[in-house]
Amino acid sequence: MKVSCGPYAAGQPYDSDEASLIRTARRDFAKAIKLPSAYVARASALASTSYDAWTRARPANDFATMLPFLEKAVDLSREYAGFFAPYQHVADPLIDAAEEGMTTASVRSLFAGLRSELIPIVCAIADQPVPGDGCLHGSFSEPKQLEFSLSVVKQFGYDTDRGRLDKTHHPFCAKFSAGDVRITTRVDEKHFGDALFSTMHEAGHALYEQGVAAALAGTPLGSGTSAGVHESQSRLWENVVGRGRAFWEHYYPVLRNTFPDQFRQIGFETFYRAINRVQRSLIRTDADEVTYNLHIMMRFDLEVELLEGHLRIKDLPEAWRARMRADLGLASADDRDGCLQDVHWYGGTGTVGGGFQSYTIGNILSAQFYAAAVKALPNIPLEIAKGEFATLHGWLREQLYQHGRKFQSSEVVMRATGGPMSTTPYLAYLRAKYGELYRLELAP
Ligand code: ZN
Repeated sequence: MKVSCGPYAAGQPYDSDEASLIRTARRDFAKAIKLPSAYVARASALASTSYDAWTRARPANDFATMLPFLEKAVDLSREYAGFFAPYQHVADPLIDAAEEGMTTASVRSLFAGLRSELIPIVCAIADQPVPGDGCLHGSFSEPKQLEFSLSVVKQFGYDTDRGRLDKTHHPFCAKFSAGDVRITTRVDEKHFGDALFSTMHEAGHALYEQGVAAALAGTPLGSGTSAGVHESQSRLWENVVGRGRAFWEHYYPVLRNTFPDQFRQIGFETFYRAINRVQRSLIRTDADEVTYNLHIMMRFDLEVELLEGHLRIKDLPEAWRARMRADLGLASADDRDGCLQDVHWYGGTGTVGGGFQSYTIGNILSAQFYAAAVKALPNIPLEIAKGEFATLHGWLREQLYQHGRKFQSSEVVMRATGGPMSTTPYLAYLRAKYGELYRLELAP
């Protein structure tokens, strides 16, 4: 007997748990049955052999070995798109898998505006001397770094009765259930920063997951809504809050007490500039807040061109260098620090495309959510400067976290911020913060 939930859902309010569950489960199901299991098996087989080859090819600077793997991945990506035909652009189904409701056209228009505004900001800052970061190098004991990092994220609101912090090689957040959301970090005893900022980053993901309403636990709605919205929370807590002046007004004295020998002679401004220094660099994962998005937009454009067939795979290394020169003013002679540097095209889902844009969408939304929170509750920055985060955390929980996957990213952004996704708050944030840091007039 066929039972339909449609009429029942139609009688429920759109934002009720029931209607949202039926709407979302139906969409998930419709997508899942489009992918034949034989395709999924081929894609995961490619992902594992390709990843294995990449772990050796990257250190050996050997793009030639990866070329056939990448060719297969591009073919599989087109095949993936074919299961979701008709589509406007071949990358649309891949983007939709990460950012439901977004398309190549919508990401392109968002990024085009951002890129043209960002490049002059990067150029203006790059003309200035690079601030020193010597104060971050020295001897910083692992237990003290871990203790300091954990105390900060607990203060953010991370609930250690439902989670814990451990060490790893590549930091991540893992949710086993609503009652068990764990985070990991890595510690370098010769460098202060990595452990703390990656703990904050993963705690941002964890706060989102811990904040999903208990009623949604164990249902298809029981997690964050999209990769980009998830990333907005890791970046909000790591960058907007954790690299902010207000945060360190409270926490720099605490840090000095934790590492008195290392920071006694170091003034606040020196430290604050060191943790926010902007420098053009080759490696995405080392990039600062300002240049980071140029790395992402470049990857997005290149993978779209690969999928369209406008860029041949053998021409990728040179296309990469050309774009690096155009956007960042530097390029690596080798491929190790060029088009071989990220695992995304050589592992993961066995496809190319649909992954990178979420990082920049995360940055854009981190500022948009924060600006909306401060507009609603103007005391938030003053509270942060006292080491208090409950008002900000409460707003995010109310507006975003509790809803889990009830709403798609565009709906959640509209509901929480009163408008569609926009680069305006993010650019205003960068101009204000880095204009002040570098004493520059970064007016639009
Ligand atoms: Zn993240």
